[in-house]
Amino acid sequence: MTEDPVKEIIVAKKILKSLNLLDEGVEIISCPICGRTKINLFKLVEEIEKLTAKIKEPLKIAVMGCVVNGPGEAKEADLGIAGGVGRGIILKKGEILKNVSEKDLLGEFKKELDKMLAK
Ligand code: SF4
Repeated sequence: MTEDPVKEIIVAKKILKSLNLLDEGVEIISCPICGRTKINLFKLVEEIEKLTAKIKEPLKIAVMGCVVNGPGEAKEADLGIAGGVGRGIILKKGEILKNVSEKDLLGEFKKELDKMLAK
């Protein structure tokens, strides 16, 4: 990697998690985006990666670009987001918890994440 060596650790952990050789920390599943994506998914994924970087609990978080296929693809995740047009939904184990404006999406997601971690 032609990057800050700190990022090598992050990538190494992702590889170990994908091989089921590490059972700690957050696994983020995000979609590759397509014509249905109407929110800034790159930024949202980056923000969620920062928000969850120090969490040790093994959690699966899905960040999907649309509400058409996103909820289905996020079904297996503990917590998920699916973007709409200027809005997004927050999901918990496949069930819709909230439908909020794009500007509130990260904040509302954080509230749900904090609730989940408090249990
Ligand atoms: S989840 Fe939606 S936006 Fe993302 S790739 Fe699938 S169809 Fe496209």
